[in-house]
Amino acid sequence: MTSVPARAALKKYFGYDDFRPLQQAIIEHVYAGKDGIVLMPTGGGKSMCFQIPAVTMTGTAVVVSPLISLMKDQVDGLRAVGVRAAFLNSTQRGSESHEVEQAYENGELHLLYVSPEKLLSSGFFTFLRRRRVCLFAIDEAHCISAWGHDFRPEYTRLRQLKQAFPNVPVLALTATADRLTRRDMAEQLGIADAQQFIASFNRPNLRLEVRPGQKRREQIVRFLRDRPQQAGIIYCLSRKQTEQLSEKLREAGYRSEAYHAGLTADRRAKVQSDFIRDKTLIVCATIAFGMGIDKSNVRWVIHYTMPKNLENYYQEIGRAGRDGTDADTLLFYSYNDYLTLKDMISGSGNAEIQLAKLDRMKEYAESLACRRRILLNYFSEDHGEDCGNCDVCANPPERFDGTVLAQKALSAVARLRESTGIGLTIDILRGSGRKDVLANGYDQIKTYGAGRDMSTYDWSQYFGQLISLGYLYVAHEDFNKLRLAPAARRVLFEGETVELVKFQTIRDRKQAEESQTAKRAAAPRSRNSLFDVLRELRRTLAREASIPPY
Ligand code: ADP
Ligand code: MG
Repeated sequence: MTSVPARAALKKYFGYDDFRPLQQAIIEHVYAGKDGIVLMPTGGGKSMCFQIPAVTMTGTAVVVSPLISLMKDQVDGLRAVGVRAAFLNSTQRGSESHEVEQAYENGELHLLYVSPEKLLSSGFFTFLRRRRVCLFAIDEAHCISAWGHDFRPEYTRLRQLKQAFPNVPVLALTATADRLTRRDMAEQLGIADAQQFIASFNRPNLRLEVRPGQKRREQIVRFLRDRPQQAGIIYCLSRKQTEQLSEKLREAGYRSEAYHAGLTADRRAKVQSDFIRDKTLIVCATIAFGMGIDKSNVRWVIHYTMPKNLENYYQEIGRAGRDGTDADTLLFYSYNDYLTLKDMISGSGNAEIQLAKLDRMKEYAESLACRRRILLNYFSEDHGEDCGNCDVCANPPERFDGTVLAQKALSAVARLRESTGIGLTIDILRGSGRKDVLANGYDQIKTYGAGRDMSTYDWSQYFGQLISLGYLYVAHEDFNKLRLAPAARRVLFEGETVELVKFQTIRDRKQAEESQTAKRAAAPRSRNSLFDVLRELRRTLAREASIPPY
């Protein structure tokens, strides 16, 4: 088959004129009977890669999807445009599934969506052999890998597929997989040598911003005030956090709901559909929210706490701005959050890999370089230049000679014989008169009170930087006590200087924002400047250009 019927089908069923980058190549790859791995960001158009083969090839395309709750919607959507689609999963009544099976056997189906459990249930392969399968598409294929973030044990048995149907092409599709996960995924599916199609992950319309996690609620309220009537998602770490935050936002007059896995299925479905239909403006959610959510006008995503890895983060911010217009993302970060996550992960399976991923997430949050470059690098994509649409690009960090500050911090750790964690070390530096500080004689130490001039919060930021720079490390196996790294010696005894980044406090930010607002307010006074005339002209032209031709 050539690409002509593919393009015709794209127009006929979906009304689009052109394929997006890679779609056509992937479709032709399937036509050639070959296996493939498709890595495209959320909203990138993965479905088309199996839907077009489904409607143009002889036989039925079987789509394995873990998103049972969305199967019906997807199938309804396809039917509405004339695609003969159906689904089989555990939520159906016997009569319903019987009807679908009949349709398959009669060769009436372009597409059959199945849950992994259904696919691997006994006798199902035999049933499929009664007719012809032209393609197996494994959607959300990262679920097969324990290294991915939504591991589904039932997915691991999908390796049987290639063995049972060696001649049917397998297409594994996912939006989130680093190199390691991708390789694992392909190996497990028995298609290790399959060609990989990797679309650009860059979403230039997403503005990236990280702020210190200080007075978060206050910051959120200010953020929302600037964005009236815009839909958004706030990702939280715990169920309780989603409920408390949502409650606060409701008190502040926002249409907000909490969403997490502890709610009933009905309740979750209701929150989800109210959000999609713009009845709820804000959802405060755990990571349970969002996989497969198709809402194009999410204008912002906030991370109340840092996700465990950059894949989750990217997936979650990727739910904003799917319509291609500007959207804001905001991540709150504190070193304490990092420690909390570290503790959570340490007890889990394959902690080593997860911890390494968490460290990459932290490096991103602490980055002093263009954030988009870091993010895209993580997905093996070299962006080449600074993006100009992240907070670091917008406001390059100011550096200063932090040698004296570093010396205070490092000598405090040395004098405390590396026996204290960050919190207590800071208290001692700041000369806290707390009982336990005094009782332990910490006030007798030479650096006691040497750091009175800075707030606890600022200190913890600078300690974070000293850790990132490799002067200190945290002994996680020993109550998170601070230890001196070899580099600390050079600062303490060999005169090495330390360059730190000026940490912006909330107050600094408020001042910067206020001066911007003031500038904006002052702008109309210069109304008749040439600049304004030109701007007005440009607006008029843009308006006229967007009027559709008759
Ligand atoms: P993914 O599964 O990669 O997250 P989808 O397959 O759900 O993304 O597609 C996202 C949106 O992009 C859908 O609304 C789809 O109709 C649209 N889309 C896909 N391919 C094209 C195309 N070639 N031209 C225009 N829109 C497209
Ligand atoms: Mg999809």
